[in-house]
Amino acid sequence: MQTAQRIIKGYRRRRFIVCAAMAVLVLFLTLSLRYVAERNMNEHRMLAFNSRAITTLENVLAPLQDISADVLQLVGMSCDTAQLRLREYVARMQTLRAIALVKDGVLYCSSIFGPRNIPLSLLQPRLPAPTPLLLLSIDRSLLKGSPILISWHPAQNASHDGIMEVVNIEMLIELMLEPERPWVSRAVLNVAGTHLEYGKGLLARVSADSGEVLHEMASEKFPFSITTVGPSASDLALKNLPTQLPLALILSMLIGYITWLATANRMSFSWEINLGLASREFEVFCQPQLNSRSLECVGVELLLRWNNPRQGWISPDVFIPLAEQQNLIAPLTRFVLDETVRQLAMFPGSPDFHIGLNVAASHFHNSEIIDDLRRYWFPANAVQRLTLELTERDALPEVDHRVVRDLHRLGVELAIDDFGTGQSSLAYLETLNPDVLKIDKSFTAAIGTDAVNSTVTDIIIALAQRLGIDLVAEGVETPQQAEYLRRHGVDVLQGYLFARPMPLKEFPRWLEGRRPPPSHHNDHVIPAIPLR
Ligand code: C2E
Ligand code: CA
Ligand code: CA
Repeated sequence: MQTAQRIIKGYRRRRFIVCAAMAVLVLFLTLSLRYVAERNMNEHRMLAFNSRAITTLENVLAPLQDISADVLQLVGMSCDTAQLRLREYVARMQTLRAIALVKDGVLYCSSIFGPRNIPLSLLQPRLPAPTPLLLLSIDRSLLKGSPILISWHPAQNASHDGIMEVVNIEMLIELMLEPERPWVSRAVLNVAGTHLEYGKGLLARVSADSGEVLHEMASEKFPFSITTVGPSASDLALKNLPTQLPLALILSMLIGYITWLATANRMSFSWEINLGLASREFEVFCQPQLNSRSLECVGVELLLRWNNPRQGWISPDVFIPLAEQQNLIAPLTRFVLDETVRQLAMFPGSPDFHIGLNVAASHFHNSEIIDDLRRYWFPANAVQRLTLELTERDALPEVDHRVVRDLHRLGVELAIDDFGTGQSSLAYLETLNPDVLKIDKSFTAAIGTDAVNSTVTDIIIALAQRLGIDLVAEGVETPQQAEYLRRHGVDVLQGYLFARPMPLKEFPRWLEGRRPPPSHHNDHVIPAIPLR
């Protein structure tokens, strides 16, 4: 049989599991979301770096292209005339180091050195070229060894004529390619197969260290691209994840706590009782009570049964005390009343037939029980007699004697259940003025075996007889107990010896089965058969 603690523990455990699962889920989701957001942000940072560098260089190259047509006009002009103009162009553009004019493959005029006479191919092997060209190279004239970016513009009809604009790329690189840690650890400018890395100069090729990834982005306007090298966006996000942990933990604990609060009702025993009532999992049983001499059935006690589909049969010894604790005993009693009234036809329609209803002392507050009887019992105009059984387990002193008086006036009897097991049984006799005392089954069980308790049984019997209170003995299991009780004048017996509690609809069949057959049948006298 389940104990109340086990059931409550089960609910607590389930509730705890649900809350823990919610907390873990929230922790996982928060970290995942943070991870994805962080990874996207890292990717965005790398891309932003690349496009910023590209735009910077494009902004440098665009004006050079714009002036190239004008400067090309100077090719062929004498250097003395052209040099001043070249210097003007250079002075106007800070990023420009020099402009040189090339005629028939010979660099013949430079903005810095004035007239010269050097075959261009000696300085730059890939020049002159028939098409515009962008080149990364090393300065061999002015700042020897420093990197330069050359923009070559050939004349329209003569590919050996043209202009060479030399960009001060070293200074620009500082501006464009300074790494942005932790997203970008290295940045490289790629022009026509040559690479210029921040802080390292010209390189033949770009490679990434292990664990790093390359991102290359090309300019749409000019033939160059930017490569950034850095940790992968996901690695970086993963590495950063521990810093998100405190916030994620706080959030998950908060959600866990909210779930704990939110499930207080849904995952508790009281919720389960309400659910049971709504889905009609409860059933009213009855156990017959017999006259100890004639063994005639003189009444029944209504007993509640709960067939819970999630937990199986739950004993009333488990759910009744819990229902009392959770203030759910009144709804249960109303259910018993309602069901009994519906099935009143199952019981003999005699005013001497007693129907015993177990009620909790708390139901007597503010005459609540009377209100419920007015709602359920009296409208049914039952001929049978209703007996309310108040158990001594409850705090009986709380029972208002005015309610008891009103009940008596309404023709409802009062029985003290489990009499003798409480602390001040005798006191209740005066305050509650009961019609019936129910001898607890522990005293019945003691008959013939336990001298002390059977003495108590004798005293209870004598007391009730003195006060003119009816006696019902419950838990009668053996013929010896039945015989003893009958001999000592206990009027009514109830116990497994006669019948176990049964569904209300089975009661008529049981009653029929144990009724003595008529003494006359087809004019023949039938001998009386002892009932048991
Ligand atoms: P109770 O009022 O003392 O009811 C008698 C209990 O003794 C019943 O247990 C019954 O099945 C059991 N019983 C009957 N004959 C024998 C017997 O010969 N031997 C033994 N060992 N036991 C016997 P049940 O039905 O398990 O109910 C347990 C308790 O739960 C009841 O004790 C009563 O206090 C409470 N209860 C049951 N139904 C209701 C109800 O509708 N409302 C309230 N408030 N309490 C109820
Ligand atoms: Ca009872
Ligand atoms: Ca009892």
